Amino acid sequence: MAEEFQATSTPAITGMKGRCPRCQRGHLFDGLLKLAPRCEVCGLDYGFADPADGPAFFAMSIVAVPALAFALWLQFTYEPRLWMHLLITVPLTLAGSLILLRPLKGWLVCSQYFHKAEQGTIDRDWHAPAAHDGDPD
Ligand SMILES: [Zn+2]
Repeated sequence: MAEEFQATSTPAITGMKGRCPRCQRGHLFDGLLKLAPRCEVCGLDYGFADPADGPAFFAMSIVAVPALAFALWLQFTYEPRLWMHLLITVPLTLAGSLILLRPLKGWLVCSQYFHKAEQGTIDRDWHAPAAHDGDPD
């Protein structure tokens, strides 16, 4: 069944489109930011997906610098009162962050699938080198 799916593109493009990371045809989201339980086309269970607060971190990081630059430009150009910033700068900052959340969440979920990222585990078969006994010889 997997042969009929087209070759995968990049996680960024697939995720920003909100598509399933395996078949790239099903929908990743069930609502604005809520992930669907599984792909309606290929049946991939999205239970592996856990981007946590990654999308929020990246959205804030991307929006913070332009928002601050805008606020400074507005302040030094027009010298508005503080409440003008509350009406202009704060909504612009919030809107910019909210607009980025969905594509960033899709990107991170698809990256988890593409790169097989999962919770860290302890490798019980790993053999540590012999402990140094303190003797230089
Ligand atoms: Zn799918």
